[in-house]
Amino acid sequence: MASPKPRSGPSILLTVLYLAFAIIGLYALYGLVQSGTGSAIIELLYLAVATLALGFVAFSLMRLRRNYALLNPTPNRVFEIVKCPQCSFKQIKNFALGDYVTKGLGLCTQCNAANLFIDGIYGEGPRRK
Ligand SMILES: [Zn+2]
Repeated sequence: MASPKPRSGPSILLTVLYLAFAIIGLYALYGLVQSGTGSAIIELLYLAVATLALGFVAFSLMRLRRNYALLNPTPNRVFEIVKCPQCSFKQIKNFALGDYVTKGLGLCTQCNAANLFIDGIYGEGPRRK
């Protein structure tokens, strides 16, 4: 019943806010370019608004990206347990693309009697910083 909601956060509200700031900043830039005969104070005002608005958007996006990177760390290392059904041979090796549990890997290097197979695939936990 208590189905966990996906952690999206107040992203829609923030997106609208960023969009509004971006529009204000671009509009101010546009005004700055257009006001060729305007007074220096108005141009300065436009420049200040544009810098503040676009700076805020850029800063927020950078922070958002960093948060996203924290939520989605680089993929952990994945290992496989290779076992021989005949002898007690057991090996842990790095996961290779296309490998799956129960996949055969050829004759056992220890007893040369049975085929090695992948007994399990598991990933290393997230790295502590
Ligand atoms: Zn064996």
